[in-house]
Amino acid sequence: MKATLLFTLQIDCEATQRSIRDPALGKRSILGLGELLATTGTRGTFLVIPSDIEAHAALYKELEAAGHEIGLHVHPADQGFEEFLGVHSADDQRTILSEGIDRFAQALGRRPASFCPGYFSANDFTFGVLEELGFTHGAVSCPTRNLPQCAAVWAGSPLDPHYPHRHNRLLAGDVNFVELPVTVDPESRLWGGGQPLDLRVELVDAKNHWYTINKAVRRQLDEKTPLKQIHALTHNTFDYNAPGNFRRETYVGMVQAARQIAEREKLRFQPATLAEVAAAFRQAVPFHTAQTQELKLDTRGRNAPTPPRPNHP
Ligand SMILES: [Zn+2]
Repeated sequence: MKATLLFTLQIDCEATQRSIRDPALGKRSILGLGELLATTGTRGTFLVIPSDIEAHAALYKELEAAGHEIGLHVHPADQGFEEFLGVHSADDQRTILSEGIDRFAQALGRRPASFCPGYFSANDFTFGVLEELGFTHGAVSCPTRNLPQCAAVWAGSPLDPHYPHRHNRLLAGDVNFVELPVTVDPESRLWGGGQPLDLRVELVDAKNHWYTINKAVRRQLDEKTPLKQIHALTHNTFDYNAPGNFRRETYVGMVQAARQIAEREKLRFQPATLAEVAAAFRQAVPFHTAQTQELKLDTRGRNAPTPPRPNHP
């Protein structure tokens, strides 16, 4: 059977956040994204802060009915806490996330299964707390991001889907949560070196994103990773509903790029939600085979994660 290239778009929804406070923009944005995803035949995963889901619950239910995924996003300052999740104790993270889960469930009628923290801010407690609260997958890491000012330090964390480590967020391990890192080009640095060029739609144009997608696909093929996937990102703070909007055009170009690269590499292009990418990973690398990453000193370069064992029926 032809191997697959999964393509996914994560949308962090936070138009009601205290620094933005524009629910009308949020609404236009998700309406435009719903239409853009339909036009391009792709799937979105909307990760939503509690006040956004309360503002537009009916719209999110429609998006879910159309095959998209809805999960939880948090900006702790909006809940009265210090803004960066990665500075908090396990107890405080439990409190912040539990409040988010309750408000999400009130609005949508079910608990969220997926999660992303604002700024990719997390610490060594985060994955364990997510597992305990019943989250099954999400996008917590931004590999190679080094922004201590946001408690978002990801050094050489895995570039590919993995089960994270219970005590060290940078390693693979045995937490029953599929971590799905956003696609990055670790060698192209931004923001004084603290940030890799990642696949957020609004960062650069489609031509630039072509190089990131191409490099990420080539690397996964070279490393024979169990899953080939591309994970793009955007926010509902851009007017995706406006005709000719630059971000709309960029996203159309990114989907074209991924389709074209998949075809060249003889991979079947398959749009997916994060839940579908996580399910594909769990099938390729069953949880019972998850193991703590073997560490060995290799001063020549990255301490590559232990290759996960493939699923032999
Ligand atoms: Zn955010």
